[in-house]
Amino acid sequence: MSENSDEDGSNAAKITINQIVTNGLCIGCGLCESVAGASQIQMVMTPEGRERPITSIPLDMVLNDRIQAVCPGTQIHGLPDHMVDSEAEHDEVWGTTLKIARGYAAEPDVRFRGSTGGVLTALAIYLLESKRVDFVAHVAADENRPMRTEPHLSYTRADVLRAAGSRYGPAAPLKNFMALLDRGRPFAFIGKPCDISAIRNLAKLDPRVDELCKYLLTLVCGGASELTKSWEVLDDFGLTEDELTLFRYRGFGNPGLTRIETEDGRAFELTYNDLWKDESKWRIQSRCKICADAIGDSADIAASDVWPGGGPSGEDAGFNGILARTRRGLDLVQAAVADGALIIDQELTPRHMDHVQPHQVRKKEAVWARLEGLRQAGNLVPQVSGLRIETLKDRLSTEEQQAQMDGIQQRVREGKFGEPTPVRWQK
Ligand SMILES: Cc1cc2nc3c(=O)[nH]c(=O)nc-3n(C[C@H](O)[C@H](O)[C@H](O)COP(=O)(O)OP(=O)(O)OC[C@H]3O[C@@H](n4cnc5c(N)ncnc54)[C@H](O)[C@@H]3O)c2cc1C
Ligand code: SF4
Ligand code: SF4
Repeated sequence: MSENSDEDGSNAAKITINQIVTNGLCIGCGLCESVAGASQIQMVMTPEGRERPITSIPLDMVLNDRIQAVCPGTQIHGLPDHMVDSEAEHDEVWGTTLKIARGYAAEPDVRFRGSTGGVLTALAIYLLESKRVDFVAHVAADENRPMRTEPHLSYTRADVLRAAGSRYGPAAPLKNFMALLDRGRPFAFIGKPCDISAIRNLAKLDPRVDELCKYLLTLVCGGASELTKSWEVLDDFGLTEDELTLFRYRGFGNPGLTRIETEDGRAFELTYNDLWKDESKWRIQSRCKICADAIGDSADIAASDVWPGGGPSGEDAGFNGILARTRRGLDLVQAAVADGALIIDQELTPRHMDHVQPHQVRKKEAVWARLEGLRQAGNLVPQVSGLRIETLKDRLSTEEQQAQMDGIQQRVREGKFGEPTPVRWQK
């Protein structure tokens, strides 16, 4: 399988949206609903706790092709060539960067509320207050069902702060993306790397993306859980979703406690390490296991945790890794520092990033073999380019590559990779 060749690499030539889902390639970003319109495709929460598209009528070929061209389940590509700055450095693992640094939001309250050091929240506020954009599109807790996550538009600092913190369950931030372009106003987008891939894919078909979506900011991503993960947390506390007034996964400290509040005034808390202590209960979605870009290769800026060894040993004041990948991203970081919105306290290197993100290094090295394992099993695989996975696979021995292929094929045989045709869950 060749990373850059559509013919050799992907077997996803003409497929339907249902096949994208049943092959485990959908992450539930919602862009297909936005491209097709809700009368043809609707995102629903399935009984398995995944946000997935269902089609109400058969899609015509042109629309089907358009969705396949933008879907981050079928197309995953690196930073577009025209955005690669001539002064950028290129690392096999960490990709294109103009700057890698450690930093945090200058305002203590933003730093505290943010998932890590509040860098994404600080940049979003800065973009609005410096009038670089009219609004910021991202996600936040659903006001009525706070365990769920909804697309969210921010126009003010208060709006941005309401969206601070990582949401570990399903999220479909692109459900309304075409309507945002229709506004004809400059905006920024914050989302996961797969959301950014979807937007970059769309930019190849719709010139308004590059004109209007001025900044694409992302987080380095270990994977998105199904909502079952959150249901199990509720079960452990003997709670039901309808009695919740707050479900905060993270933030209010670094990493901060997972905090749940109920209508009758009770509060429940879990440490980050308790939330993630049992890997068999992470409920990470299939698409994440073959994610060729969990580090935000194609974003303007990616923000990460920087815990030594990859996990927290307790609470700290909050420090982000910041990877400025494009000239636009670097200019934004530098302006935010100059104007006092952001503090950079250390320059970092790709090898430092390896140390604080060892799981991302392992994943980048393993993805090619996992995709090859899927292809050999007859599953559909995405088209991948510009993400160095074919080169990185050579860091694994032949036996290690085989183990990755065997592992994913076993998941396929056990029915743990593919998904059923999605149906709406009534709740
Ligand atoms: C599912 C998930 C997995 C992650 N895994 C890792 C990891 O393995 N390694 C690592 O270093 N960091 C990981 N993070 C990122 C980390 O938790 C922080 O988000 C990141 O360090 C940025 O911190 P911050 O303080 O700048 O974010 P904040 O200032 O709190 O801003 C967070 C922003 O992200 C947006 N957001 C939150 N959740 C989602 C979501 N589910 N989908 C789309 N947008 C969202 C919010 O709307 C907000 O704008 C993960 C985050 C998520 C959501
Ligand atoms: S990944 Fe996004 S665009 Fe692709 S099928 Fe799923 S929801 Fe639709
Ligand atoms: S691991 Fe990849 S596919 Fe999964 S949520 Fe993160 S960026 Fe998206």
